[in-house]
Amino acid sequence: MKIAVVGAGAMGSLFGALLSENGNDVWLYDIWKEHVNAVNENGLIIERKGKIRTVKLNATVDSGNIGPVELTIIFVKSTQTESAAETAYRLAGSGGLVMTLQNGMGNADAVAKFIEAERILVGTTAHGATMLGPGKIRHAGVGPTTIGMWAPGEKGHTRARQFAEFFSRAGIETKAVKDVRSVVWQKLFINVGINAITALTGIKNGQILDLATTRELSRAAVEEAIDVARAESIKVEKETVAQVFKVAEATALNRSSMGQDVDHQRQTEISAINGFIVREANRLGLKAPVNQTLTALIETLQYHYK
Ligand code: NAD
Repeated sequence: MKIAVVGAGAMGSLFGALLSENGNDVWLYDIWKEHVNAVNENGLIIERKGKIRTVKLNATVDSGNIGPVELTIIFVKSTQTESAAETAYRLAGSGGLVMTLQNGMGNADAVAKFIEAERILVGTTAHGATMLGPGKIRHAGVGPTTIGMWAPGEKGHTRARQFAEFFSRAGIETKAVKDVRSVVWQKLFINVGINAITALTGIKNGQILDLATTRELSRAAVEEAIDVARAESIKVEKETVAQVFKVAEATALNRSSMGQDVDHQRQTEISAINGFIVREANRLGLKAPVNQTLTALIETLQYHYK
């Protein structure tokens, strides 16, 4: 299958490499010239549990070089989704599908401004990756991927199942679900409860659990998000707060992606995570003071980057 990845940083490069290793014709598209040049010259270097392998891939800074593809995977940060979606729309032509496995809420809706929901695959992934430098990534964690068609219905679900099987054959263990909105929300709860708090305090994920005060802050942020989700008729799993704490425990030694963004003075995905909860709460006449405070503090931090 001919596949393009729009936003070939840590995750985009990883998924592109796994799909290429399984015999697909994969193109990476990114605006980061140094990285694109390094991939074209030396291949993509992947570090996994101390072992190194190199994957040959086509990479470009000009999406016009790629031509129409059957699947476009968007893996930019959520702040860039709109511009990536426009590129994906051009790459998809009249029949291609576009997939987003990004964190945060609003990515699928941004893509849907350009392409019909019947051609948008949405989901979450528990794989983890970090950029080590141009042309080099670390595959930090392996976990399940879940996808579903943004447009509900049996036909879309059948297609999502076919793509899940296709991804699984490439070693990306994937299942298809009918209610993908709930799955995206469930991942959002985790990001709401962990990311901003770790980013603001400099702690690692597991340290959220060390102190009752931090745990309660995380719980309050997640509970506000649950209220918003329920008001939007989203099915919320029981014990969601406990699940968030479980993830914090399982990833205890990791610094969250927002934490890493703040450490490197990069723009964060706050607007698509806690900021999204605040906007939705306002729209629905609910209150989300904890998420509002977390959002305001991250925005302040970002504004004063050197
Ligand atoms: P990243 O910063 O490593 O990669 C993003 C890439 O997008 C960069 O290389 C950047 O140059 C490129 N880019 C920016 N604007 C672009 C544009 N307009 N067109 C093309 N390329 C553009 O980010 P990441 O860690 O790979 O994360 C991507 C998404 O996946 C985020 O939503 C993140 O939350 C989510 N995610 C990350 C992980 C992880 O472990 N890193 C895990 C699950 C989900």
